[in-house]
Amino acid sequence: MLNFAVGPVMMNEEIRAIGSEEIPYFRTAEFSAVTFENEKLLKKCFKAPDDARVIFITGSGTASMEAAVMNTLSSKDKALIVDGGSFGHRFCEICGVHGIPYTAVVCEKGKTLTAAQLAPYENKGYTAFLVNLGETSTGVLYDIGLISDFCKRNGLFLIVDAISSFLCDDLDMKKYGVDLVITGSQKSLAVPPGISIICANKNALDRIEQSEVNTFYFNLKNYLKDGERGQTPFTPAVGILLQINARLKQIERDGGVDGELKRSKAFAEYFRKGIKDLPFKPFADKQSNAVTSLTLTDKPNAAYKVFETLKDEYGIFICPNGGELKETVFRVGHMGNLDFADYDKLISAFRELKTREII
Ligand SMILES: *Cc1c(COP(=O)(O)O)cnc(C)c1O
Repeated sequence: MLNFAVGPVMMNEEIRAIGSEEIPYFRTAEFSAVTFENEKLLKKCFKAPDDARVIFITGSGTASMEAAVMNTLSSKDKALIVDGGSFGHRFCEICGVHGIPYTAVVCEKGKTLTAAQLAPYENKGYTAFLVNLGETSTGVLYDIGLISDFCKRNGLFLIVDAISSFLCDDLDMKKYGVDLVITGSQKSLAVPPGISIICANKNALDRIEQSEVNTFYFNLKNYLKDGERGQTPFTPAVGILLQINARLKQIERDGGVDGELKRSKAFAEYFRKGIKDLPFKPFADKQSNAVTSLTLTDKPNAAYKVFETLKDEYGIFICPNGGELKETVFRVGHMGNLDFADYDKLISAFRELKTREII
């Protein structure tokens, strides 16, 4: 199997081997040490301030999106949400469910956010800004510098969902003044799905402490308290936390976050160059290094067929799109345990599809 989807992604041998082992009992000093090490290495990857904290939620990425919103925002806030695809829209839905007043800054699908779109919202009493750094559904990367400047000027609390951008696109909590970052286990961390991660700076920690959030499982105050001893309130996905530990140590050995960024950039560029003569066109006007989203120039409605044919006849997964983009856009990921030869295989398969007149 070859998997170029945007999560779950291919895992290396050391990580897969850990997945086949028994799960140890976890209320131990040994497991606490693993959690502390995970926190330390993740903070380094997020370029987080020293006093930031990391929270491990057993749940997919959306669990942390919802936990972050519930525990740091309230009905007294007024949030701006960048809605340029299904993940941006998810933040709107979460705020809706929890009664957080918000305005959606809608970006046309495949288009990045511009300064002109933000201008009407200067000095309008907003308190928070929510964005998915990479809108994985369209492949768009938003301009974190632009967003950071806007938030600093307007004193906004900045929540960044970097679930797919983590380790693929530039993210620096300190430099950009990001208050809370979210990522998940099944994207560039390249371990199985099941754990999502929140990194909270001092501002975010203060908001969590003061929050009167109405939830039992997702009350982050309890996670922070138990985190002080390297534990979580409830049984976490222990095996995945062990795999995350091994992965973070691999990343540290292989040049840290900057090494990972270089790697995904090299894959994205190699793939984009390799398909130049095929009937594809990039869908995103500003592309994340996590994923390349493509439309078809000769057979515009063949996107889902391309996904199905590669899956059924070639044993290769790419990522289809959902909703209105299902027939017209497909995505190729640059995350996980892939190498250049894997891209060569994918590109030759595309060439065959061209000969067979599927694309
Ligand atoms: C994958 C992803 C998520 C989370 O999805 P889950 O299925 O809940 O893990 C959220 N935001 C972005 C930008 C993503 O790429």
